[in-house]
Amino acid sequence: MTTEKGAATLNAWAVAQHQFDLAAEKLGLDPGMRKVLREPRRELTVHFPVHMDDGSVQVYTGYRVQHNLSRGPAKGGIRYHQDVTLDEVKALAMWMTWKCAVVGIPYGGGKGGVVVDPKKLSAKEVEALSRRYFTEISILIGPERDIPAPDVNTTPQIMSWFMDTYSMHVGYTVPAVVTGKPISLGGSEGRNEATARGCVYTIVDAAPRLGIDLKKATVAVQGFGNAGRIAAELMVEEGSTVIAVSDSTGGIFKADGLDIARVGAWKKEHGTVVGFPGAKEISNAEVLEVECDILIPAALENQITGQNAGRIKAKVVAEAANGPTTPEADEILYEKGVFLIPDILCNAGGVTVSYFEWVQDLNRDHWSEAVVNAKLKEIMDRAFFETVAVSEREKVNMRTAAYLLAVKRVADATGMRGLYP
Ligand code: GLU
Repeated sequence: MTTEKGAATLNAWAVAQHQFDLAAEKLGLDPGMRKVLREPRRELTVHFPVHMDDGSVQVYTGYRVQHNLSRGPAKGGIRYHQDVTLDEVKALAMWMTWKCAVVGIPYGGGKGGVVVDPKKLSAKEVEALSRRYFTEISILIGPERDIPAPDVNTTPQIMSWFMDTYSMHVGYTVPAVVTGKPISLGGSEGRNEATARGCVYTIVDAAPRLGIDLKKATVAVQGFGNAGRIAAELMVEEGSTVIAVSDSTGGIFKADGLDIARVGAWKKEHGTVVGFPGAKEISNAEVLEVECDILIPAALENQITGQNAGRIKAKVVAEAANGPTTPEADEILYEKGVFLIPDILCNAGGVTVSYFEWVQDLNRDHWSEAVVNAKLKEIMDRAFFETVAVSEREKVNMRTAAYLLAVKRVADATGMRGLYP
């Protein structure tokens, strides 16, 4: 692979295909099946106009990619970020296919993105952009076809606008067209916390195997959005000490532990974790290299690379983000004996509770938070221990083990359906 020169030159799609190739090779996958699963089924690019508050018109670019639909409709979030590219969305869509298969929920993989920094837009502009983008991709979308959800910088409010836009087009209310909605619109209890909660369930499963007492463990978290902030809160509930966190503007460190609730309040008020009283300022990259037991990357792709993997000191890396670790870094961490819980397993709690939300919407039902969390735990535990079993049996790292499970399930489904026509 020629992509490993530093974060700026890494291509998420090359990484995703490389990860797939490793698993396909180990599985001895049929060459035809390899060709099919190596590419996305559909890639849609849209350029669409939005009225800005100052009266001008701005044209934005967005994508929706469906990687594989063999096991069910496409499922996956939509991100708003200035660095979104088609290759990134393709990688994220492929990862969704494997993620849904690892936890055994009946979906294929999809992903969407818009090239925009929503923090620079007013709420009215974000609404207009969201409604027009959803209209443009609606040729692919539907509760039986492709069901979007939140991802980086997208919120329950944006999911509400998506749901309303689709419903206005068809003339009746369709809650099941998108997940991650507010409870008042058919959202599920526990969905907001689900990515972080699922991640923490896998850490709880891993800890005793590695001789880690979570009550004495130290934690560093990169990213303080929906996944990172809530994962930090839940680790505190487990009795652990969160000593470092960061967001896109920088990081903070406090050896005897940060008060995460207060950091959350600080970020809400100031828009950044930086400047939190009593903490030392460190960079976003330094957070990864902090001396700690558990590292939770919960931001973007390609953060742990061949460059810095050797300096990671954590015993466990729990990937709440999608694609934070490159293949070269995977090897370095594995050789160092770091236990890595791969993204397609570790952060699958989000899409799992999205699945619960979709099932509740289709059945006009509503489950309690206790029921949601119990079902989530059962699914995460099963997927975790199945992956550990494959990793031990095949003597491969946890990422390759999760891929072996997932790719086999998708290949079996794709093979059983056969080639049309
Ligand atoms: N964006 C989340 C992910 O990457 C959730 C996707 C979903 O709920 O469909 O897994």
